[in-house]
Amino acid sequence: MKTIPNWINGQEALPEKGNWLDKFNPHTGLPMSRGADSTSVDTHRAIDAAGKAFPVWSSMTPVRRGQILADMVTLMKQNSAELAECIAVETGKPPHDAVGEVNGAILQAEFFAGEGMRLYGRTLTSAMPGKQSFTVRQPRGIAGLIVPANTPIANIAWKTFPALICGNTVVMKAAEDAPEIAHIFARLTKESGIPDGVFNVIQGRGLPAGAAIVEDGRVAIISFTGSTGVGRWIAEVAGRRLARVSLELGGKNPFVVCDDADLERAVHWASLSAFSNAGQRCAAGSRILVFRQIYDEFKNAFISRASGLKLGVTTDCDLGPVINQRQHRNVLTAINGAVADGGIVLCGGKVPVDTALANGYYIQPTVIDGLRAEADLSCQELFGPVVTLHPVDGIREALKLANTTEYGLTAAIHTQNLDRAMYFAQNVRAGVANINIGTFGSEPHMPFGGFGASGNGSREPGIEALDVYSELKNISVLTQGGMY
Ligand code: NAD
Repeated sequence: MKTIPNWINGQEALPEKGNWLDKFNPHTGLPMSRGADSTSVDTHRAIDAAGKAFPVWSSMTPVRRGQILADMVTLMKQNSAELAECIAVETGKPPHDAVGEVNGAILQAEFFAGEGMRLYGRTLTSAMPGKQSFTVRQPRGIAGLIVPANTPIANIAWKTFPALICGNTVVMKAAEDAPEIAHIFARLTKESGIPDGVFNVIQGRGLPAGAAIVEDGRVAIISFTGSTGVGRWIAEVAGRRLARVSLELGGKNPFVVCDDADLERAVHWASLSAFSNAGQRCAAGSRILVFRQIYDEFKNAFISRASGLKLGVTTDCDLGPVINQRQHRNVLTAINGAVADGGIVLCGGKVPVDTALANGYYIQPTVIDGLRAEADLSCQELFGPVVTLHPVDGIREALKLANTTEYGLTAAIHTQNLDRAMYFAQNVRAGVANINIGTFGSEPHMPFGGFGASGNGSREPGIEALDVYSELKNISVLTQGGMY
């Protein structure tokens, strides 16, 4: 079986204790690889390497760093088939979804490579005659980047490129369930000319390998994408030493369907929002709020769409399995809990009957109604192909229910009425509000992040990411105009 070591100082590094973690293929349930089960000693070695590489990388001009990152973009394009294949196998997503994810990661990389020729500051006026003032962006130091497995190459690119263009060096904690994609990415960083030690990868468990990044005083930035519980712990520990902390956490995103919505379009986007990537998206539209006048009509069309989705890992499939056995169990337990809570399973709710899928971590696309809006499953993120439907009496109630969970990541509304759409978009507690589309995140040049328990206020892609990964300095000079 393939073993996936750490990547430290431009080369493979075996875990110091010689322990490995089994990674299972989500489609077959069989072991497929073993990633290094790193200890805090392994993490410290990666931090040492990132620290040593910092002076060289941070002192290059941003334009030069951008040129090197542009070479990395070229390599990602040349190796996109290998990257997509690896993601498809490690995560179990259908091939076209894996290709789409790689293309998204490349766009992200292109955007930030180009930032080397911008990295704009501001020129400022002054009350003092002859004083010229402006801001520049400077690197912070070592960035500890911690990612989950749901969209692994997108998550890696999302953090790595802005961190590097700003002149930081990186220790990345790969996701337990997507070890190989991080390893391939690391290999490409070396081929592209990124100096040794600038980008390092630690494989293994959150505890101890990831926690050792969070606890190490040498790490100046912690950027974490993952669950809200772990995010809270990171904010406490890294906050104590005043590290910069960027948290991209969970979501329970509302999808509102008004009585004047184009129903076919609403069903299409609701289905994609709820079930793409088997519902394992922080931005998944897992709570659908439907105007009562059209509730039954929407419900029937949506059930028919959900029941027709094809599970599997071939190009004709809509969604794959969930990532691991633990998550498979969690989702099935939550569905049973919802039924005990008064929920009615309108479709799905079980593992599929198809014997070809019997050993994988598959769950049928599941639609539940009859639950109170405050019930656990209506409010808590599940990270699986499960959605709850709730009738609402008008836009005010829709907005009220949209805003009742602790999260606030994305939201969508379907209506032909611009006033209603804008009322919702302006007032919903979410970092992203979409009209007549799905609860999807943003493009590489747009800010993404959440209100409430979905984050700590930072926004990562877009130029807003530069605020996470750089330190702003105000430089002023007093010139004596008129002397010459
Ligand atoms: P998770 O929090 O269990 O793990 C995420 C990563 O953190 C993994 O690499 C894990 O090893 C590491 N980790 C766990 N405990 C740690 C600790 N104490 N210290 C340091 N690192 C630690 O999350 P998951 O279940 O793998 O991922 C799903 C979650 O991620 C969902 O809640 C989802 O909403 C969220 N997510 C958010 C976004 C976003 O942009 N807001 C995007 C994708 C996923």
